[in-house]
Formats: sequence, structure tokens, C-alpha cells
Amino acid sequence: MPNIGDKIKAIVETLPQEVKLVAVSKFHPVESLLEAYSVGQRIFGESRVQELAQKYPVMPSDVEWHFIGHLQTNKVRQLVPFVNLIHSVDSVKLLACINNEAKRVDKVVNVLLQLHVAQEETKFGFTCDDCLAMVADGVLDELQNVRVCGVMGMATNTDDDDAVRAEFKAIKAVFDALKSGYFADKPYFKEVSMGMSDDYQVAIEEGSTLVRIGSSIFGARAY
Ligand SMILES: *Cc1c(COP(=O)(O)O)cnc(C)c1O
Repeated sequence: MPNIGDKIKAIVETLPQEVKLVAVSKFHPVESLLEAYSVGQRIFGESRVQELAQKYPVMPSDVEWHFIGHLQTNKVRQLVPFVNLIHSVDSVKLLACINNEAKRVDKVVNVLLQLHVAQEETKFGFTCDDCLAMVADGVLDELQNVRVCGVMGMATNTDDDDAVRAEFKAIKAVFDALKSGYFADKPYFKEVSMGMSDDYQVAIEEGSTLVRIGSSIFGARAY
């Protein structure tokens, strides 16, 4: 059995230079994160604020923490001080809440807009149309303390590669429309977060810049 370090190295070797690995460490102990850290991994993804808040103080300070789970507004205050990027912004209400908290502590918080393209109802996010309309309506103009750095999405959990690819294309199309429109003069708008253990190769072919990989690195999660 390859260990965590070897698995990370094997994955990183296959990634194009411009694609960054988010090691999704949710439900795994700090010892596992430290193994990943020891081979150079610096970006970790967590999906629960409580868990992130516990791991943050015990991990080295140069770790970049990404929040990837569904975020409730009542958890935003706890998250804002140490999060580097929130991938999962799925409502205007949440955007406004993050903006308020960021402003309160005099920060600018990096976020991605989560798009719902999968067939499953359980997944969160803006529809592509709602996302484009929201940006076109100028909602972001008022939110000076959030920096929208790109988009995020999850494909349907299926073996049908064509279906997965079509969903990634839909995410990338929204990114491209925003990049050439509202964000045309915003170089920080550059991230396309898509691809997990089972579909990251397809995601990269479709333009991903951030792959979020958990089980292929750390093994199965014990919920
Ligand atoms: C858990 C999770 C992942 C990682 O999934 P794996 O299949 O374990 O690689 C990626 N993205 C999100 C949003 C997740 O919640």
C-alpha cells in the first residue's frame, strides 16, 4: 500500500503546471495531514468549520486552508479569520454575510461561486443562468470585502464520462463568460475548481485549475 506521501507525489506528477492540488482532508486526523505536508502539500480542503477550526492551530502556519463544504451563515464569523479561499458560495445571502464579516475584521476574503450543474438535488450552488444574472445585476459591486476568484462545481456521481464532461464544460462556459465580461479587468478571477478523486482527469481536460482530491490520497472517510 502506498502511503499518503507517495500518493500525493504520484498525483502531483500527473498535474499540469497550472493546476493546483487541494488535498481534501475532511474526516482525517492531523497526523495524515502532516504526512501530506511533509512531501510539500500546502493546500488543504475541509468541509466543516468546526473541524477546520480544530486543525488550523495545530498545523504549520504556511498551510493554505480552503473551505469546500456547504457553509451556513451562522458559521461564517468563525471561518473568516483563517480561511484562504471559500469554494462553496452558493447564495447572495451567504456572499453578503461573508462580506459583512470580512469588513468587520478588515479583511478581503477570497471566494468562488459554486455552480449547480449535477443531476443530484443534494448538491448546492447557483444555476448557471442565476449566477450570470446575479453578476450582471451588479450584486458584486457593493461587496468590497469579498474577492470573487472564480467558480467551483461538482459533476454528477456517475460512471458516464460523457455526462461528467458535459457538466464540466458547462462550468467552464460560465467561467469564460464571466472572465470575458464582468471580470475582464480582474486578473484575480482565474480559478476553476472542479474535479475530485474519480473525475479529476476529465476536469483537467476541461480547464480545471484546482482539483479537490480526498479519498485517492487519504483513503476512505470514516463518517
Ligand atoms: C469530499 C469532497 C471532495 C473530495 O472527494 P473525493 O471523492 O474523496 O476526492 C471534493 N469536493 C468536495 C466539495 C467535497 O465535499
